[in-house]
Formats: sequence, C-alpha cells, structure tokens
Amino acid sequence: MDSEKSTAGRMKRKHLLVDLKHILGKAHVLTDPGSLLAYESDALTLFRSRPSAVILPKTETEVIACAKRLHQAQIPWAARGAGTGLSGGALVPPGGVVMALTRMNRILEIDPVGMRAKVQPGVVNAALGRAVEPYGLRFAPDPASQTVSTLGGNLAENAGGPQCFLHGTTTNHVFALRVVLPDGTVEDWGTPSGVQDGFDLRGFFAGSEGTVGIAVSIDLRLIPQPDEVCTFLAGYDSVTKACEVVSTLVAKGLQPVALEVMDQNAIRAVEDSVFRAGLPVDAGAVLLVEIEGSKDSVQKEKEAARTILQSFHPSVFKQAATAEERTQLWKGRKGAGGALGRLAPDSYVMDGVVPRSQLAAIMTYVEEVQKETGLHVANLFHAGDGNIHPHFSYDARDAEQCATVEDAGARILRKCLELGGSITGEHGIGLEKENLLAEQYTSEEINLMERVRQIFNPDDLLNPGKGLPMKRGCSEVFRRHAISHG
Ligand SMILES: Cc1cc2nc3c(=O)[nH]c(=O)nc-3n(C[C@H](O)[C@H](O)[C@H](O)COP(=O)(O)OP(=O)(O)OC[C@H]3O[C@@H](n4cnc5c(N)ncnc54)[C@H](O)[C@@H]3O)c2cc1C
Repeated sequence: MDSEKSTAGRMKRKHLLVDLKHILGKAHVLTDPGSLLAYESDALTLFRSRPSAVILPKTETEVIACAKRLHQAQIPWAARGAGTGLSGGALVPPGGVVMALTRMNRILEIDPVGMRAKVQPGVVNAALGRAVEPYGLRFAPDPASQTVSTLGGNLAENAGGPQCFLHGTTTNHVFALRVVLPDGTVEDWGTPSGVQDGFDLRGFFAGSEGTVGIAVSIDLRLIPQPDEVCTFLAGYDSVTKACEVVSTLVAKGLQPVALEVMDQNAIRAVEDSVFRAGLPVDAGAVLLVEIEGSKDSVQKEKEAARTILQSFHPSVFKQAATAEERTQLWKGRKGAGGALGRLAPDSYVMDGVVPRSQLAAIMTYVEEVQKETGLHVANLFHAGDGNIHPHFSYDARDAEQCATVEDAGARILRKCLELGGSITGEHGIGLEKENLLAEQYTSEEINLMERVRQIFNPDDLLNPGKGLPMKRGCSEVFRRHAISHG
C-alpha cells in the first residue's frame, strides 16, 4: 500500500515537472541538486530545507499558469526574491517548490511628474534608485541589503532601512500592486492615487511574508532628492551614551532622516575589511546622524544637532562636507553586514524593537547575554526606531553553537517584549520567531490573523509555516541546525 502511494506520488511529481517545463521552458525549472543547494536557505542559515524544484518565471502569465498548476497538484510553494531574508521566509518544506522571481526584473514605467514607478517584483532596490536618480527622484526605503534585495521581497517583509526613521517603511511607499493568489486568481489592490476608500488590502499585503499571494507588479511612490544633506559622525565611549544622545536628539524635536549606531565590535570588523571607512576603532560606539531638507531647514537643524552631539563629549566628531565624504561615512555602516560575515562561517542577525527610551537597557542586556554565552556579538542598529540588530558570529556545523545562538536570540527578544517592544521590526517572523509569537499576541489574536490569511490562502499551500505557526510543528517539517558546509 505504501509503495503504491509513493509510486503515485512520484508520478504526480513527474507530471507536475513536465507541465512546469512546458510553461517555462526546460532551462527555467531547476531540479539538479547543485542548483537546488543555493535555494535551501536564505541569509539566516540556522534553517535549511532543500526544495524539490525551483521555477523561474519571466512574465505575469507564467506566474499565473504555474500557480494554477501547483494549486491543482496541492504542492506547497513559496516566492523568493534575492534570498537575503533574515528569518527563513523563502524556504519550503520538503517536496515543495520555490518560485524565484529574479527574472522578473524590469522597471515597467517611470513617471517623473507623478513621482511614481511601476516595477516587476524582481527589480533590485538599488537598481530602481539608479534609474530614477537622473529625474532628481529616489525610492526612500533603503535596507542595508539594497544592492541585492528585490522590491518584491522588500514589500513582502515591509523592509525598513536607515532613512525609514523619517520617511517610513516600504508600506508607506506603495500605491498599488497586482497580486496572483495561491490558486492563480489575479487581484489588483490599492489605487493609482494611493487614496484608499475601502479595506486596505495593499497595506495588508505589506509585511505578509509571501503568505497571501505573489506580487507581480508594484506601483511605487518616489520622493524628490533633498536640496541639502548634512551627515555627522560622532564617536562615544559607550553604546549606552550613544543611545542617550539619540533619545536627546529626538526629545528636543529634531527630525533627522537617519540615526544609526554601531558598537566597537562592528566598528573593528568594518575597519579590518574592504568596507574600511576611517571609523574610530577605539570608540565604544559611533553614531551617524543625517539631516536633509531645504537649505534653511538643514541649516537650523544641523546647528541644533551639532550642539547636542558635542554636549555629550564625543571622542571623534566629523561632518561630511562633500557628497564623497558622506558616501565614505555611510560606507562603513552599509558594509558592516558584509564585514561581520567574514568573522565566522555563519551569522545570525537578530531583529527586535524596544521603545527608544529603553535602548540603553536592551544593549546592557545584550552585553550580559554575550558575556554568559561567550558568543561574538556586534551591534549595529536603527537607533531612531529603537530597532536593534545584534549580530552573532558562529559556526552552523556545530549543533551546540546553533542551539546557544538560537537560545540567546530568544532571550533577547523576550527582553524586548518585557521592555515594551516587539519581536520584529523589519525582518519578519518567518520560521525564526513563530515560537515566540504567542508571547507577543494572545491566542485569540493569532487565530484572527490566521483566519484573515485563510481567506486568501485557504489550503496553506503558499509559504506554509511562515509568519504564523504551522498546524504541524514547524521544527518537524523544516530542518534546523547540524549543517554541513561541505
Ligand atoms: C546584509 C543584510 C542587510 C540587511 N539589511 C536590512 C535592512 O536594513 N532592513 C531590512 O528591512 N531588512 C534587511 N535585511 C533583510 C532582507 O534583505 C530584507 O528582508 C529584504 O526585504 C528581503 O528581500 P529579498 O528580495 O532578498 O527577499 P527573499 O529573502 O527572497 O524573500 C523574503 C520573503 O518575501 C517573500 N517574497 C519575495 N518576493 C515576493 C513577491 N514578489 N511576492 C510575494 N512574496 C514575496 C518570500 O516568500 C519571503 O517570505 C538585510 C539582509 C542582509 C543579508
């Protein structure tokens, strides 16, 4: 009986692959182990699950046809952009199919007068930035992964970035989108003007972690390049002091576009790498403050900011006088993830939020956890938003280290909740945090979220087990730990 079942399963899978190859062409259905290896995790290597196939559609029509066929076969599947996600969001359970959207990388329209752009989901964030720059425009959300991550992935995770302190996260920059639902139905959500008069399905999609549908085109808001920008870098003797400066700047009513902190471990990793930016290696922390706007407003804000920054006696104080100097100051912050990635075979970049006034408290706790566990932790964070990113360096081949890292992460997130914060700011729940969801929300709240999601994804076939707990225990379905790098 069992062997009859498995023969039937193999035949079903074979027919599915034949049909997918018919829709996409042979070259765009990957099944060989070497190619699949690249898709078995995202940037959070704590979780791995090798898909049975990866499909690479080029057009909306192909996405619809594939969705219908996968739905008919009742196969679990998930979208993937660049795979830079940090919560295991683009993984499928064994037997599942990954739909990689990187070939859907065309900017369909730029409307400089209406300050908007229509893009396919696989367009890389920074590629859109380069395309609209000649019109004096920009796309504000600027995740540190922006040279790689896709706009579809940014929308699904509601990505943030340094500039989002002033301009808001991705959801604030999306007017409308076309969505292919798990059964292949097409929906248009949002309006061309961005004005909503009904239920905001556009907003609902932002941050839904690829569990509601596939965004196949996205209408984005662009904003003008500022007239003037001023960037300060100040070095302080401790992270706690840098956090205090941040709270003071905001409490005094200043509205910088970015307020970013890096601790000494992060500074040293940057200065030892190709991302070297001339940061002060002896400082306990550096604070980057950027102010933008009209010439007059920047002039006023920058004098106020300078006074506050200097009143805390920085060991180093710099102001970028030219665009090149500004790029240089940011080079270290933007390259810090890559620089820290060199320190060990694997990284675990956490994401939690606390009220800004509790930043010093959470940093003290991170330090305690670091001392107790002996793990290497570096901190770089969006301080304006209270969004912390402790970065653990470890070796995923060692199951004990994996367990220690995961436990340390969970303790820090619990502390975030205790301090009045949240278990995620911008990386999503994914697989990583679904066990902690019940500590932030009541079971009634989780059930409600689940019921809303089921309206669009009733069979739980699209990206199962992400964002909300899977019905069967996720840890049984997705492989954790014990990774071979060989
Ligand atoms: C070095 C580094 C720095 C980072 N810095 C930041 C940062 O500053 N801010 C921040 O917010 N994040 C950051 N991230 C995390 C990550 O880059 C973001 O979450 C990003 O938005 C993911 O985009 P992606 O294209 O790689 O998506 P993937 O990782 O491929 O997918 C992420 C999720 O989106 C879903 N998805 C992808 N495309 C679609 C689509 N078209 N329709 C529906 N669902 C889709 C997937 O199913 C998955 O659930 C960083 C990551 C790294 C490695």
